[in-house]
Amino acid sequence: MAGVIPGAYTGVCQMRIPFDNTYVQLPPHFYSRVDPAKVPGATLIRVNRGLAEELGIDADWLESDDGMAVLAGNVVPEGAEPIAQAYAGHQFGGFVPQLGDGRAILLGEVVDGDGRRRDIQLKGSGRTEYSRGGDGKAALGPVLREYLVSEAMTALGVPSTRALAAVLTGETVRREEPLAGGVFTRVAASHIRVGTFQYFAAQQDEDALRLLVDVAVRRHYPKAAEAENVPLALLKAVMEAQASLVAQWMGLGFIHGVMNTDNVAISGETIDYGPCAFIDEFHPQCVFSAIDRGSRYAWANQPNICQWNLTRFAETLIPLMAETTEEAIALAEEALGEFPALFQVSYVRVFRAKFGLGGEVGDEEAFTFAKETLTVLAEQHVDFTLFFRQLTRVAAGGAAEELVELFDVADVCEQWLGQWREITALDLEAMRGANPILIPRNHRVEEAIQEAYAGDFSLFHRLVEAWREPYVEREEDADLEKAPTEEERVKQTFCGT
Ligand code: AMP
Ligand code: MG
Repeated sequence: MAGVIPGAYTGVCQMRIPFDNTYVQLPPHFYSRVDPAKVPGATLIRVNRGLAEELGIDADWLESDDGMAVLAGNVVPEGAEPIAQAYAGHQFGGFVPQLGDGRAILLGEVVDGDGRRRDIQLKGSGRTEYSRGGDGKAALGPVLREYLVSEAMTALGVPSTRALAAVLTGETVRREEPLAGGVFTRVAASHIRVGTFQYFAAQQDEDALRLLVDVAVRRHYPKAAEAENVPLALLKAVMEAQASLVAQWMGLGFIHGVMNTDNVAISGETIDYGPCAFIDEFHPQCVFSAIDRGSRYAWANQPNICQWNLTRFAETLIPLMAETTEEAIALAEEALGEFPALFQVSYVRVFRAKFGLGGEVGDEEAFTFAKETLTVLAEQHVDFTLFFRQLTRVAAGGAAEELVELFDVADVCEQWLGQWREITALDLEAMRGANPILIPRNHRVEEAIQEAYAGDFSLFHRLVEAWREPYVEREEDADLEKAPTEEERVKQTFCGT
């Protein structure tokens, strides 16, 4: 463009955050307008500088007092149109027709350098129309936990919401005990959930559903817009994204902990790091969440739950999918019937890489091998992450000693190794890319949180840095590789509320 000098003052006041909001243009019953609550004593904990730049936000500004005032909710920045989004959801199987952002406020959307639209949301900045009995605030612990784990998940290669910043509010929030309060700034491809569809389905609001399908398709699955049956194409696209997501996180020993339908993002990103945890000693029935008493969200149950959630999603689309309900149900059932196979493809892909199995091993064989191995790992109380980490070392020609030590009985390991060596020429590169050296170990997350409550954030910062490159071996982080001792082991995790 002639006459425009890069960086020159153009006379137009530039928005510090380049908002470009679309959700707020939807009908008013999609959300409720609300300003973040002001807090007495904001202190910055951390800004994710890389992510800020990706979003077109000056990281230095974000770290300044002016930027921090925005992150704390004390100033609504130019261009923001703060709203709480309405949604419903099945929580532990029971339907709640209205949930909504009770402790989250969407400031607005930005389009990042790659043209992707992203939400910027404050979590913990006060009550909204959907807060019910809650205070709309967040304690420091859950803020740090979400920061650490969502960024680690991203670095591990799993689609996830991101952490832009964490601040202390100078307030005390009342939980079981009084705790320091914080605000977390979350960035997401969108916050549209299965529960958002359920909200309008419960009200039999077909116009709203139609609009929501359109928004979701345009934002996340533009190819589906070309399909003959757009709602059906959306269902299939979300099924694929969710199957791949859950398979990927299972391959890391991750347990989401609250796979309620309001915590299933249509985008296919992991969302809501409440009582989530990474398995230490492998067991398929592993559960950490204190509130998951029926083990609904156990590690091995996640594919079933994923399918259950997708079925709830499909139900919301029935009125849009065909002329008659019978026809629509038939289409939905046919699509959902493909989920087990769809999941299997992703799951086999993940575990094939973890074991280094080459293409000459058939899918069936790879699946059976993975399944049998996992049974052995559970019986032998083997640390999931260390197992694959040491196996990668063995594949690279290292001694098997440290791998063998992970097992209760050395012979069992030796025997298993014999089988593994027999089945294939190993794909070492795949193993290196699939078997992290570092994961956000629960006891480390917990330790960082406890130290932060005591005023020391150094471990938190160290973990953020270390977990940015989880597949890279660094001697100075060798202590972070270790499994917890019996005393260190975290046995239960709690919701982020
Ligand atoms: P979650 O378990 O985090 O998915 O939250 C479930 C629902 O409870 C959502 O509608 C939240 O907005 C709401 N909620 C959770 N914690 C609070 C809180 N402290 N104040 C108000 N609403 C909350
Ligand atoms: Mg939630």
